[in-house]
Amino acid sequence: MGDIKFENDKWIVPDDPVILYTDGDGIGPEIMDAARKVVNAAVKKAYKNKKIMWKEVLIGDKALKEKNDRFPEESQNDILKYRVLLKAPLGTPIGEGFKSINVRIRQMLDLYSNIRPVTYMNGLESPLKHPERVNLTIFRENTDDLYLGYEWKFDSKENEEIKDFFKTKFNIDFGKDTGIGIKPINKYKTQRITRAAIKFAIENNKKKLTIMHKGNVMKYTEGAFREWAYETLENEYGDYVSRDDENKILISDIIADNMFQQIITRPENYEVILAPNIDGDYLSDAAGALIGNIGTLGGANVGDNGAMFEAVHGTAPKYAGKNIADPLGLIRGAQLMLKYMNWHEAHDVIEKAIGKSIEEKKVTNDVARFFNVEPLGTKEFGRSLVDIIENL
Ligand code: NAP
Repeated sequence: MGDIKFENDKWIVPDDPVILYTDGDGIGPEIMDAARKVVNAAVKKAYKNKKIMWKEVLIGDKALKEKNDRFPEESQNDILKYRVLLKAPLGTPIGEGFKSINVRIRQMLDLYSNIRPVTYMNGLESPLKHPERVNLTIFRENTDDLYLGYEWKFDSKENEEIKDFFKTKFNIDFGKDTGIGIKPINKYKTQRITRAAIKFAIENNKKKLTIMHKGNVMKYTEGAFREWAYETLENEYGDYVSRDDENKILISDIIADNMFQQIITRPENYEVILAPNIDGDYLSDAAGALIGNIGTLGGANVGDNGAMFEAVHGTAPKYAGKNIADPLGLIRGAQLMLKYMNWHEAHDVIEKAIGKSIEEKKVTNDVARFFNVEPLGTKEFGRSLVDIIENL
């Protein structure tokens, strides 16, 4: 049993790595159970000598019940020690003073790449005529930009001070009743997300990488993002990328508003999209909508020394404990984890099994309603995927 190590951008994965999981809230425990069973079956199918040694970390409702704390210190210590986590959705209580545990984990492990692959699954009801053309992965910067939260209410003392400063120093008058927020974009942070995106493109044989930005308006933030991204790509990955040679990965950039239009009208032109935090946030959900069902999408938050994999959706409280929820989003998250572990064969086994399951219309309620078939429960769907895997 060994820890996963990170050396010079590489994951060093033993044959029996410890991987953390947390059941999460709402539908979390049910989908986690199904997802781990599917992953175990796939690893067993793909390799004779590999096995994931799952270790549970208590977070959220379960931790509150057992330890009287939503994010106990021992769970934080485990995350800092083992650094790779498969996470079911966690509810964020609404109200002042509660910082999302998702955000805390991202900060603890400096998970600066938010990665969301969006691929169509046959049969889903998409708003597009040709949803099968959607096969893209968004790399959203996760630690910079407006999300740093430097904001001052229009009538606060700090707001007044900032306005005074701008007035005296730059003769800029923001006027009365103006809220102020600051948008920082950092070169180092842009470079590291760019490297993550291009490495993904190279390793996954992608042919196009597009930089999304609103640099025509925000010249020294989003414009700088564009510039630094090109610079990193051309200076460090010149052998792999080009702006016009189709034998290499084609790199280009696009203004944010046009990006939204293009993923709807010509999704096939986009494979890897690199975006600053706020643009990536908007685009991720819009891209998810293209395929008709975010319940089937997984995502990852990855840094240089750790990663957290998850479903894109939340805790779907209305389905909690009812054996109805679709575990596919979390399974997709786990597949991404297998890719980062370099266990591609196990990833592919799951891909085949999902394909077969859809073909045979063995699906949970969220997908079954499009197929007009009787749905499988969460448990039964997981078991059916395991059966398919064992018989591949
Ligand atoms: P949500 O949990 O994603 O659920 C919204 C709706 O999406 C559900 O009512 C259901 O809609 C459908 N859905 C989502 N996942 C599904 C699944 N696996 N199987 C079947 N249907 C699924 O969004 P929410 O209600 O806005 O958020 C609930 C809680 O989750 C909040 O506390 C929020 O903070 C948290 N959250 C956590 C994460 C995370 O941990 N990463 C992410 C997002 C939200 P239908 O009515 O169409 O069946």
